[in-house]
Amino acid sequence: MSKKILVISGDGIGPEITVEARKVLDVVNARFNLGLEFDTALMGGAAIDATGVPLPPETLEKARASAAILFAALGGPKWDKIDRAIRPEKGLLQIRSALDLFGNLRPAILYPQLADASSLKPEIVAGLDILIVRELTGGIYFGEPRGIRVLENGEREGFNTDKYSESEVQRVGRLAFDLARKRGKKVCSIDKANVMECTVLWREVMEEVAKDYPDVELTHMYVDNAAMQLVRAPKQFDVLVTGNLFGDILSDEAAMLTGSIGMLPSASLNSSGQGMYEPCHGSAPDIAGQGKANPLAMILSAAMMLRYSLHASEAADAIESAIGKVLDQGLRTPDIHTAGTTLVNTSQMGEAVAKALRV
Ligand code: NAD
Repeated sequence: MSKKILVISGDGIGPEITVEARKVLDVVNARFNLGLEFDTALMGGAAIDATGVPLPPETLEKARASAAILFAALGGPKWDKIDRAIRPEKGLLQIRSALDLFGNLRPAILYPQLADASSLKPEIVAGLDILIVRELTGGIYFGEPRGIRVLENGEREGFNTDKYSESEVQRVGRLAFDLARKRGKKVCSIDKANVMECTVLWREVMEEVAKDYPDVELTHMYVDNAAMQLVRAPKQFDVLVTGNLFGDILSDEAAMLTGSIGMLPSASLNSSGQGMYEPCHGSAPDIAGQGKANPLAMILSAAMMLRYSLHASEAADAIESAIGKVLDQGLRTPDIHTAGTTLVNTSQMGEAVAKALRV
């Protein structure tokens, strides 16, 4: 099995948090004899500056040859005014699509030490551990036809197309059920089957997939209710599976349950287990270069990478428990800092996790 990891540090706070994730990976690589080999490449604004495009062919080539890609974040005001076709974000859509990374996993876990950082009452969120599985390469973000046209009466009309084939729903459904089997054995499929035909089919196919998983409970929920239930009683969920658009919105909502976007990792997988791992947050240009960025989402993304693409769950567990220890010690970056805890910068936080892993 390939042990090649492609590291893309991107823009804004990307390079700072990447340094910390590498510190931690170097420790587990040695401690667990993982034999990981690291390479780097450009994507996003940094790639536009160097090569004129957000996803240079060389980056894609290296990505294809890797077991996994560890990516920080891209974008920033510097590139906001350039042609839409070569904006930094295009690089991300292109790489997801080129590698067929159809399954986006976004865990929302609330470390008990951070219950006070959530905007919800601690009793509602303490111990929260849910996993959102979002379909990432289909649905309305990719469906054709799309565009803005001028109608006969001279008025402009914007339009997009939501569509999912049976096989697209099946594969993301199977992914969700497989993951649920290793967790709480519950899948809640989110749709809008009372209004949208595309999601009527989604619901039917989920029912068919469920027949192969008699040990996993399948329920369905309309997306508007799901948005409400996520803030009312989020602990009722185990795995949620949904399409691209609903998943985009619900996973950001779930992110906020945990207090800080700086704590949330994600994985995007294809059917061969290759994956791209990245924090849920963006490039945070407002705090870039100031040592204020929380590197834990990036470090947790590295742990997910070890678990899902490198089959090194022992090393992944060790990283997650090291983070628990550091939080127990009271160390906090500004985004999760509360009274009575110790304020640290990006590099101190990364160093503390690496140190907790060395002992
Ligand atoms: P953002 O996630 O970058 O920032 C939102 C807020 O969260 C900011 O106040 C930021 O300081 C804070 N924040 C984010 N990550 C943090 C961390 N690790 N530690 C502490 N605080 C953190 O979202 P935005 O401001 O809407 O977007 C900024 C840029 O990032 C834009 O160019 C956007 O296009 C891009 N973006 C990229 C990705 C990606 O690369 N996957 C995702 C979202 C946004």
